[in-house]
Amino acid sequence: MTKIAHHIPDEMLAAYAAGRLPATFEMIVAAHVSMCDACRAALETHEMLGGTLMETAAPAAPLEGDLLERTLAQLDAPVEPDGAARTPPARMGIYPGPVAEALHHGPPRWRAAGGGVRQQILAEDGKSSVRLLYIPGGQAVPDHGHGGTELTMVLQGAFHDETGHFGPGDVEVADESLEHTPIADAGAACICLAATDARLRFRSLLPRLAQPFLRI
Ligand SMILES: [Zn+2]
Repeated sequence: MTKIAHHIPDEMLAAYAAGRLPATFEMIVAAHVSMCDACRAALETHEMLGGTLMETAAPAAPLEGDLLERTLAQLDAPVEPDGAARTPPARMGIYPGPVAEALHHGPPRWRAAGGGVRQQILAEDGKSSVRLLYIPGGQAVPDHGHGGTELTMVLQGAFHDETGHFGPGDVEVADESLEHTPIADAGAACICLAATDARLRFRSLLPRLAQPFLRI
């Protein structure tokens, strides 16, 4: 695998550690961290700092009466120590564990999205969404702006746009100020995981007409 060059911004890792990211972005961060030692190490630092904050914070309120006892009684048998408690979902081919989980460990069910592009929406939550995109080699995604933030992570192949070149594991962070035209590299289809927290703004008429249908 080629080396990952485009990472999750540190403030986003901090927000993820604090549980403050939209669920649709969480999947991309989890997928990238599963492939990137550097971001995994940075995330562990944030989680450690967050844990220290929680330990030093004053308790919110004393537990009343026998609440503590009753709560403890309801807990299940002793759990595995940290780390072994939750086995991360297994990778499935090009799909990192969190994506494989969202696919219910089966192949994607692609739907045509125009111009040879195919997609499968994995999760939607109000205005935000996360989807798999299949872009044939050499194919462009219509240029668009962003009402909010768009995160795109490459799973197979590569794409390039005005800001750079993105291969497997790389994450592009696009914000409101960026208008770009991603183009898949020639060769194998580019498969990406893309998450948005607001609707995209397409400049040309055709994608705008198709937008409600594509639910981008
Ligand atoms: Zn990284």
